Amino acid sequence: MKRRYAALDWFRLAAAALVVAIHTSPLSGVSPLADFWLTRVLARVAVPFFLMVSGYFLAKQNWRGTSRFLRKTLLLYAAAILLYLPASLYNGVFSGVGWLRRLLVDGTLYHLWYFPAVVLGVLIARALARLGQPTALTVSGALYLVGLGGDSWYGIASQLPVFRSLYDGIFRYSAYTRNGLFYVPLFLLLGAAGFRPKPQYAACGCALSLSAMSAEAFLLRSLNAQRHDSMYLFLPVLMVCLFSLLLEANQGEKPRFRAISTIIYITHPMVIILIRGGAKLTGLESLLIENSLLHACAVLFVSAAFACALSFLFPRKPRADARAWRELDLSALRHNAGTLQSTLPAGCALMGVVKADAYGHGAVPVARTLQACGVRAFAVACLSEGIALRKAGIRGEILIVGYTPPEEAALLRRWRLTQMVVDAAHGQALSGAGVPVRIHLGLDTGMHRLGIPADDVDAIAALYRCKNLRIRGVFSHLCVVDSLAPSDVAFTGQQLRRFYKTVAWLRAHGYPTGKVHIQASYGVLNLPAQSCDYARVGIALYGVRSSGSPVRRTLDLRPVLSLRARVTSVRTLAAGECAGYDRAFRAGRPTRIAAISIGYADGLPRELPQRGGCVLLHGQKCPLIGRLCMDQALVDVTGLEGVCAGDIATLIGSDGGGTLRAEDIAAQCGTITNELLSRLGGRLTVITR
Ligand SMILES: *Cc1c(COP(=O)(O)O)cnc(C)c1O
Repeated sequence: MKRRYAALDWFRLAAAALVVAIHTSPLSGVSPLADFWLTRVLARVAVPFFLMVSGYFLAKQNWRGTSRFLRKTLLLYAAAILLYLPASLYNGVFSGVGWLRRLLVDGTLYHLWYFPAVVLGVLIARALARLGQPTALTVSGALYLVGLGGDSWYGIASQLPVFRSLYDGIFRYSAYTRNGLFYVPLFLLLGAAGFRPKPQYAACGCALSLSAMSAEAFLLRSLNAQRHDSMYLFLPVLMVCLFSLLLEANQGEKPRFRAISTIIYITHPMVIILIRGGAKLTGLESLLIENSLLHACAVLFVSAAFACALSFLFPRKPRADARAWRELDLSALRHNAGTLQSTLPAGCALMGVVKADAYGHGAVPVARTLQACGVRAFAVACLSEGIALRKAGIRGEILIVGYTPPEEAALLRRWRLTQMVVDAAHGQALSGAGVPVRIHLGLDTGMHRLGIPADDVDAIAALYRCKNLRIRGVFSHLCVVDSLAPSDVAFTGQQLRRFYKTVAWLRAHGYPTGKVHIQASYGVLNLPAQSCDYARVGIALYGVRSSGSPVRRTLDLRPVLSLRARVTSVRTLAAGECAGYDRAFRAGRPTRIAAISIGYADGLPRELPQRGGCVLLHGQKCPLIGRLCMDQALVDVTGLEGVCAGDIATLIGSDGGGTLRAEDIAAQCGTITNELLSRLGGRLTVITR
């Protein structure tokens, strides 16, 4: 297993340090050439990296977060303008002609060009992205080439009079071509594309393109061709390779690093001013200013210390693991999706059932992970669940396996959702709403919950004549396929025969069936291969079975979810003392008890302690005691040394050598894992690993 870490967030810190290097020239006292390479070549990856991360995450949400992103960027810019107001006034930024250009294009201090450039660049990139990736990349690539000719290739490009007058024109409006028009869109869109060449190719590509870019830079430098040194021909190539390696290694996030890198970016010029002033006052100029390396280190150190202090003093969000949380093992989810897909016959695709917040796992992270490993069809229970997935950037087919009122037909269409027809009247009403909708016909083959009776071919054929129904699928649901009892197996056989009979009738009479599907998880585990287009798999994707009942086919499926909570307080009861509501627990001996911060409002069954529920602490099983409260639970930790506030209790999942399985807990409480997991509440944060 490859080691993964929050590579993107770690690299933000490195990129911030490189920006500091650009502005402090650490090696200038050692070797001007070495300094040129470090600050004018290598460090030029920093800003494109920031742009690519932004593009990557904006595109992940289909650019829907753009206005929030722009608002945040403008706020940061406003804060930076205020911070540097004295310096800007001193430099005369706001006086004379050109102040508006400096405010809106070049930035009010040398490093602040980034903010107006990003705002313009994001607007351009989003507009280009709408034209499709090839066009977007071609146009932004062409813009970059224009910019290149006004940047490090200026001396060569401006030999031609047309170019010279072009660039003279450009420089009347922008001090550099490294701006929101020529420079920013390409990197945003390369980030948005999220290219993933094989890691070995990407690593080779990094080495080769960095060498080529270095050669390019030294050549242009020797020709005295550089007007500026932000743009190189090989920089986009290097960035694509570097970024793909970072994506490959990326897992989880470190939000604090983002804040720290942003603060370093904004404040380091202030630190430079302060260190220069401080050095003059204390007579340490030779140490802190003239020694370039020490100067750069001092600036980096002070900026980083300031940024850390600020981010710790003013934390932005509560920690996700402060109270109680759902921890998702996304590699297990990917593994399960792969395993399930590979057991399905060719031509049958996995439809990820992510209703009820992905059975309590968090619909968005689950659907995104499935989408990233090739799943192109999803099932939800209602309209709002489908819309939430679209808003999170989920593409492909999203089937609502539940009722949607016909009045909502316009929303189905707007969000490109596929609706099941729950009975003939529903189908007629949907069509009557007057908006074309994509639908799958639900057939009732014996469950008698939803669906048109499978043998009512007249009613089914009538729906094919409905003007606004775009019939893209026919399916049914099995109700006892989890049982291997002979009578249940016979019933399932009957359901299957009814289903395929109707499918055959439709085909024979020229009614296109679209996607045909009948298996859910237990259909995959207990039936021979079906020649269908989809298997709608829910619980098996999450790596658990509904119950302990035997199955025909055991697949290597791994639990995705762990449930954990913090110990908040530990105390000792004397023999005879009681704990919790109703004094339901009575200590028979001196007893050490711990309170943990999770309760029935988080979705735990209230009777869990009385049904033998346990938690893992330090890898050891400890019984839950007393009445489960709304937000707290009590655990008997007698005999377990050293339990203290802040420790992590595991309610589902592994810790140390111990494991608590969702199947066992569900059985203890007389239910199935589907219920146990899907009840896990929204107050539980989701942490992905
Ligand atoms: C919930 C549901 C599924 C998924 O069932 P699992 O047993 O969790 O795989 C499939 N189809 C329909 C119609 C459902 O309602």
